[in-house]
Amino acid sequence: MKLRLGLQAQFFAMVALSVVSVAALMVLFWVRQQEMQSLVEDVSKQATDQVLDANLHGRAETGVERLAESLANPLYYFDLDQVGEIARATLRQPGVRYVLVYDADGNILHDGTPDIPSYGKRMDDALARDAIAARELHTQTTPRVMDVSAPVLIGDARLGGVRVGFDRLDGRGVQEVVIATLRKQVRELGHRQLLAILLLTGALLTLGGVMLAVIQRSMVRPISQLADSARAIEAGQFDTEMPVSRRQDELGDLVRAFARMGQSVSRHNRDIRRMAYTDALTGLGNRLSFREFLDARLLQLDDIGEQLALLFADIDDFKRINDTLGHDVGDEVLLQVAHRISRVAEDIGGADARVARFGGDEFVILVEGGNVREIATALAERLVTVLAEPIATRGRQVFMGTSVGITLFPDDAAGATALLKNGDIAMYQAKVAGKNCYRFYSRAMNEAVERRVHLENELRGAWDRGELRLVYQPVYRLADQMLVGAEALLRWRHREQGVIAPSVFIDVAEQSGLIETIGPQVMRAACGDAARWEREATSGLSPLFVSVNVSPRQLRSGDLAKMVEASLRDAGLPADRLHIELTETAVIGDEAHVSQLLSRVRSMGVKVWLDDFGTGFSGLSHLRRVPVDGVKIDRSFIADVLRDPDDLALTSAIIAMAHSLGITVVAEGVEKEGQYALLRERRCDLAQGYWLGHPMELDEFIALAAKPVTA
Ligand code: C2E
Ligand code: MG
Ligand code: MG
Repeated sequence: MKLRLGLQAQFFAMVALSVVSVAALMVLFWVRQQEMQSLVEDVSKQATDQVLDANLHGRAETGVERLAESLANPLYYFDLDQVGEIARATLRQPGVRYVLVYDADGNILHDGTPDIPSYGKRMDDALARDAIAARELHTQTTPRVMDVSAPVLIGDARLGGVRVGFDRLDGRGVQEVVIATLRKQVRELGHRQLLAILLLTGALLTLGGVMLAVIQRSMVRPISQLADSARAIEAGQFDTEMPVSRRQDELGDLVRAFARMGQSVSRHNRDIRRMAYTDALTGLGNRLSFREFLDARLLQLDDIGEQLALLFADIDDFKRINDTLGHDVGDEVLLQVAHRISRVAEDIGGADARVARFGGDEFVILVEGGNVREIATALAERLVTVLAEPIATRGRQVFMGTSVGITLFPDDAAGATALLKNGDIAMYQAKVAGKNCYRFYSRAMNEAVERRVHLENELRGAWDRGELRLVYQPVYRLADQMLVGAEALLRWRHREQGVIAPSVFIDVAEQSGLIETIGPQVMRAACGDAARWEREATSGLSPLFVSVNVSPRQLRSGDLAKMVEASLRDAGLPADRLHIELTETAVIGDEAHVSQLLSRVRSMGVKVWLDDFGTGFSGLSHLRRVPVDGVKIDRSFIADVLRDPDDLALTSAIIAMAHSLGITVVAEGVEKEGQYALLRERRCDLAQGYWLGHPMELDEFIALAAKPVTA
């Protein structure tokens, strides 16, 4: 781990360093002081030594000079008594260690003692030679003794000499005392200085401590509080209390700037959360927020053993509203739907009910408390009725239905993911059951969905296994009931499950995208079959067309014109024998693109018919914008055309309108002769239906086409 030195530690180190260096300086100073002390002592000792010596020297020389003078006469007369008296008197003087009176040759005559043991001996000590040789006052010193000698003269004649040894150490006692006093004073001074140094160091330490405390209070603490807050923000805790400061300095500015920054980060975070959790259009919660809420609720409810219900409401065919009326109207419709759902949810589910928009036209409602099955049922019923009421927007009335799927916790699933999936499945089943209704989730539904997935996998290889084939339903001209062509219809006979209805597998193919591979295969086969009956049916009738259903997905992907052209070329079928049928939903939406596409197909000579006409929203106005050659009136209108005057009116209107635009009208699902007669009377052009002929095998159709007479 990397060593981390905090601000406080750094300040501490700095203060400690300065205290230590000042203390070191002080110690150095003190040592110098000690040295000075001993130097002062030495110098003063030397000085007093010199003063004492000079003093002694002066005294000694005058004394010895006088002594030599006083000895002149006794020596001249060789009066040893007199000499001895003088010598003894001298020796008695304080500080005199010895007295030697000697003759001209240096032999001792007297030494001041009573019995003169050295009498007659020649002086032979270290100082003797110079003393004897000296012709005037002569001083020599040893550490202990100052030896002063003087010749004893009568006139110019030298009779001998006298040497006196003065004790140099005499009088040093005073010197010692003086030096001791001096030393004492210097020591005291030193102690005072040491005390001063100690006090100063102490003061410095205190100052350092105070400084540290001040730094800690005024800088380190606010900065570490800032660091704590920054860490909290980093960890996503935006509601942590921000540090405040009334300081008028840079740190105060920093703290305030930080607090402002923290607030704005927190505000941004709230905004982002709001954006992330709410649906921008309706203001309801979105999938994310709902999922989080559901997770939390499930945990709580699991503990207390309560139930909840999820309702998935999906507007039926909402895409058509968007496609036909535009996205602005679509948005307004969604807003009103959201409003209605929220109101109903609150009315029946109570204030605890929660509504979210899962995107598009899908809304989810959560209700809990009490008998959730009953509440969910009531809520779903009301939703279906309330949402079926027309929505008024921009001067229009928009009609629509809603399919609702319901799933219950904990009956259907224990986890949020499974519940959401179940709700989706139940809603899907409501759609399959005919839309505009509600369904509770059941395990069987799950199986249905699984079956569907299975079906999709089976369908993938069905064409290659030869399970898919085409049947042909004859199309007749109403005026003379002449066979004019046939619609190619796909059949699937599964090797195990038997015949599977087109309404089932075409839907699977559409939704899985498989239709994009099956579609071209159907086109190719139908063109081939049509070319065959062209060759084999020798009735001499006008040529028969084949009508092929084309899925909306095929319009959006790939090049329809190229595919049609290739199929015609390969089969050798003239283009005018081919019709393609498109549902209204395929055509509306991207009209410009579709018009361009259809123009290319039509320019080849292929005719385009609008299938299931009247069931969509497009209405007749679309026919002006999209180039088609014909419309096939949906069989739901034909079914009631004899009983329902509205259907008859609509059918008649379609026929009249189409004719005014110069396009062909085909009636689907003619099951009764009466229908046939009525349609003929209303000048409908072509017709197909069980009364005229069921969808049949190719061979059957060829046989039918070969019959020379009309049906
Ligand atoms: P559609 O194109 O409207 O086809 C007409 C449907 O009405 C056929 O159902 C036909 O059997 C049925 N029908 C004909 N006459 C009568 C009648 O008198 N009464 C009643 N009740 N029904 C009648 P089918 O074959 O089940 O096809 C259903 C739908 O499947 C077709 O509707 C078409 O949209 C689609 N489809 C069928 N084959 C293909 C195909 O090859 N490609 C594509 N893309 N769709 C296909
Ligand atoms: Mg059709
Ligand atoms: Mg149809």
